[in-house]
Amino acid sequence: MSAIDDLPPLRDVLAAHELNAKKALGQNFLLDLNLTQKIARNAGSLEGAHVIEVGPGPGGLTRAILSLGAARLTVIERDERCLPALREIGERYPGRLEIIEGDALKVDFATLAGDAPVKIIANLPYNVGTQLLVNWLLPGSWPPYWQSLTLMFQKEVAQRIVAGPGDGHYGRLGVLAGWRTEARIAFDVPPQAFTPPPKVTSSVVHLTPREAPLAVAAEALERVTQAAFGQRRKMLRQSVKSLGGEALLERAGIDPTRRAETLSVAEFCALANAIG
Ligand code: SAM
Repeated sequence: MSAIDDLPPLRDVLAAHELNAKKALGQNFLLDLNLTQKIARNAGSLEGAHVIEVGPGPGGLTRAILSLGAARLTVIERDERCLPALREIGERYPGRLEIIEGDALKVDFATLAGDAPVKIIANLPYNVGTQLLVNWLLPGSWPPYWQSLTLMFQKEVAQRIVAGPGDGHYGRLGVLAGWRTEARIAFDVPPQAFTPPPKVTSSVVHLTPREAPLAVAAEALERVTQAAFGQRRKMLRQSVKSLGGEALLERAGIDPTRRAETLSVAEFCALANAIG
């Protein structure tokens, strides 16, 4: 029995279902249920909420989310070996856990969410984490179908998500996240908290949607950030040459001798809107 429910400790679950971690699936499991509860608590009160979790694995975070009162939890797991352990959790919380076997990159999250906004919580597989985040940041309409994102990333990726101008980690991810959300690092998690331990420290990032992000086409914003940060050490008149160079910068009211990492999110939006 564990501290948060009457299910077996996760180490026993791994042994019972022979869940040896697979590197190709980005499997680094969290076995400490106090830690998984700490992560889930960062999403705010889960009482009565609908939560979506990507990559539940053996279910450490899943159990934390359910123990904290989520009315409905939809999990998406690619590794069929994890399904029996997840079904056992579902039996402990009847009618509350929906298990989807499949690739989260192919899932239509907006349809899954339905009418009420969901909270998304995940210890993400490192190989698809950034792409999933970009998909969540760029849905067809805004405000999005999600209320908050509480996500574990490698620390270096987390730093890029929350970075702003003047920060060496600032780039495309920081502009996208800063444009549409308020993002912060909640806390770091050391490698030894995972089984097996990854090489680097991880961080939990919490994002909430801005109510009224600046009006700009996501595609145009992507084009300017790609060009500007593609040659981040060059002056903008050089790096955005293919998009209009000095004339474009003049229309946007931006000094052509500046470099990408000095531009605020609002200035990137102005630049994107000036593409025309
Ligand atoms: N949530 C568990 C935990 O915290 O212990 C496992 C986290 S582990 C870092 C990532 C999980 O995502 C693994 O269970 C892996 O099988 C799953 N996964 C990997 N790629 C996936 C994908 N494309 N779609 C859904 N799940 C995926």
